Amino acid sequence: MTQAKTQIYGLIGYPVKHSLSPAMHTAAFRALGINAEYRLFELEAFQLEGFFAALPENNIYGFNVTVPYKEKVIPFLDEVSEDARLIGAVNTVKVSDAKKQGFNTDGEGFLRHLREGLQFSPEGKIIALIGAGGAAKAVAVCLARDRAGQVSIYDIDNNKSSALVNNLRSKFAAVKFKAAGALSALGIGDCHLLINATPVGMKEEDPCVVSEGLLHPDLLVYDLIYNPRETKLIKQAREVGAKTANGLGMLLYQGMLSFEIWINKKAPQAVMQSALGAH
Ligand code: NAP
Repeated sequence: MTQAKTQIYGLIGYPVKHSLSPAMHTAAFRALGINAEYRLFELEAFQLEGFFAALPENNIYGFNVTVPYKEKVIPFLDEVSEDARLIGAVNTVKVSDAKKQGFNTDGEGFLRHLREGLQFSPEGKIIALIGAGGAAKAVAVCLARDRAGQVSIYDIDNNKSSALVNNLRSKFAAVKFKAAGALSALGIGDCHLLINATPVGMKEEDPCVVSEGLLHPDLLVYDLIYNPRETKLIKQAREVGAKTANGLGMLLYQGMLSFEIWINKKAPQAVMQSALGAH
């Protein structure tokens, strides 16, 4: 049975043009016979308030949030999940007559891909994280929540990595956190997992975010970038015999989690995965 009126879901951000989310969610709606559309809403900051006010008249039941609004949407929400509160950012909003609820599925999406897709449990592991921006925060909180042993963080801006480490220490006393003042201080040689949470590698001319000599075969190298699929970091990691993953897995799992929050049904993983792979 199809609903009479098409439910609208979507993505707000600026820019959003190149997002892969419409393909993934549209395929999922079709596979489950749900009368819904996923649209891109490219908003300027001044349009945010009007967007929220017009949710009912536009039949919007939920949406994803990307840069630069993951923090800015919080004042418009009635409730925020525990993960979103710890991360300080929302990437998924569910809209009902009664309320607007905010969630963050980025970190949990990363974790689910680590555990289910790559059979890697973070518990007790030594982890190096490059970048201390929005994605790094989500990933670090979920790694800590799942009892990682040690997380060392390096950002080109040392103030950012120190602030993130101080914040994480105050929330997760059982995990060891270190702010590295340089890439070489991350201790990659002793790590089980290396994560790139910077945009370095998106552009053709970008260098590899770490020097090749730091990589080793016992590492899982996870680059959050999915465009291109193979960054210089992934290529060099493969060459030294390390296991690798690009950001498509995280994108898929965060999308599945958002879908399940909105629709209350299990997301069709294979369909969503092939919709992403088709690009
Ligand atoms: P962001 O908030 O801008 O954070 C990136 C951080 O990396 C910034 O603090 C930046 O510092 C720092 N940085 C830049 N160059 C660096 C370098 N050479 N060494 C160390 N740190 C450096 O961006 P984000 O939203 O966290 O996104 C980061 C990456 O993750 C992007 O490539 C994004 O596409 C990807 N991502 C993927 C997914 C997924 O589902 N796969 C989800 C979210 C994000 P400055 O600000 O000073 O430059």
